[in-house]
Amino acid sequence: MITPDAPGAPDVPTCSAKGCRAAAVWVLAWNNPKLHTPERRKTWLACEEHREHLSQFLGVRGFLKDVVALGEWVQPEGSERR
Ligand SMILES: [Zn+2]
Repeated sequence: MITPDAPGAPDVPTCSAKGCRAAAVWVLAWNNPKLHTPERRKTWLACEEHREHLSQFLGVRGFLKDVVALGEWVQPEGSERR
C-alpha cells in the first residue's frame, strides 16, 4: 500500500477509534451530506474490534457508505483521510 508521506504518519495504518493503536483492518468510507458533496468520501480506519462500533457511529447518522477490507480499498480521487 502506498501512503502519502505526511509528517508523522505511521508506517502501519492504525485504527481511528479513540485511544486505539491497533493495526487497521477495515476502511469505513463515509460522507456527511451537510458538509460534503455526494461523491466525496471521508475514511476512517478500523481494527477488527472497532469496526462494529465505528460503523454504528456513522450508520446511525446516515453517513456510512461502505466498509471495505483495507487491502481492497482504493482511495478515490479527491477524498481525504482523517
Ligand atoms: Zn481499534
